[in-house]
Amino acid sequence: MTEGRIFSGMRPSGRLHLGNYFGALSNWVALQSQFAQCFFAVADVHALTTLQGTDQVAEIKPNTHEMVLDWLAAGMDPEHSVLFVQSQVPEVLVLNSLLSMSTPLGWLMRVPTFKEKVRQMGADEEHIPYGLVGYPVLQTADVILYKADRVPVGKDQVPHIEIMREIARRFNHLYGETFPEPQAMLTETPLIAGTDGAAKMSKSLDNQIELAAGPEETNKRIKRMVTDPQRQRKTDPGRPEVCNVYALHKIFNPDKLDDIYHGCVTAGIGCVDDKQTLADGINTYLSEFRERRLEFAAKPSYVDEVLADGAARAGAVARETIREVYDKMGLS
Ligand code: ADP
Repeated sequence: MTEGRIFSGMRPSGRLHLGNYFGALSNWVALQSQFAQCFFAVADVHALTTLQGTDQVAEIKPNTHEMVLDWLAAGMDPEHSVLFVQSQVPEVLVLNSLLSMSTPLGWLMRVPTFKEKVRQMGADEEHIPYGLVGYPVLQTADVILYKADRVPVGKDQVPHIEIMREIARRFNHLYGETFPEPQAMLTETPLIAGTDGAAKMSKSLDNQIELAAGPEETNKRIKRMVTDPQRQRKTDPGRPEVCNVYALHKIFNPDKLDDIYHGCVTAGIGCVDDKQTLADGINTYLSEFRERRLEFAAKPSYVDEVLADGAARAGAVARETIREVYDKMGLS
């Protein structure tokens, strides 16, 4: 087993998609057999930065359940890894408050994802929730509460890990060496593009392929995928290097890549057939995952049991850290 602690989390967004899996979850599964201490959280408090009011927050619990079913079906082992819900270990909120005392506002306002969110919300900065500005502080609290030094995430999260390092470094500078500076861990496929050709597959853009979707839904979504825009007719040669379908073939049909490439550039294979080959590859790849997911879903209280056990294990570590932080910060 390798030295070090792993932490990562995901907001409870319901069923996960290929981007979540190939950017992060597949790494979580692999890392749990290399690292003795692994913590993975459902970031439900983070979800509150964008969900407001009774109707919207009603989605959190069912979405948590769906997401954790995906974690388990993908091979997360709750006997080894600590799987828990962020709000069930409230010490993270204490650490969030304490870290916010020493984090300059300028650092937070410069995070690219913050600017992006403000633009998406169509609001001016005056009306942005305080919690949204502090999103990376809460993420830092998540990670360093468990003294984790490695954070497996997708490429879009890298700027957040950078600021985490700065927040941890500043705490250590002010109060003495306490926390490791976390590092991002990326997969070989750290950014999966959307079916519409957008750079990032994302539920909010509705350009995703869900792991738990049935073959029919998968086929339908793959059929709608955007390919090389210059390939208008079947007789036009294609350019696999700019085609999203080809990018996914690299993952799902590695044995057929040469034939697919050649067929595309010589117009020997049309996009319709090519997409069917991809859909078949995805459905084959995910068939065991989907079966396992049904088995976990048939045990309705299992997810809750896993999360309760995880919260107890995480809580014990969290309380230790808070004791140490109180001491260092002069609190009693
Ligand atoms: P959050 O971490 O806020 O829950 P998401 O729900 O968007 O963010 O994603 C969960 C995890 O999946 C993160 O580690 C993120 O980097 C990764 N991820 C999301 N979309 C993609 C994508 N299209 N390609 C690669 N990784 C992704």
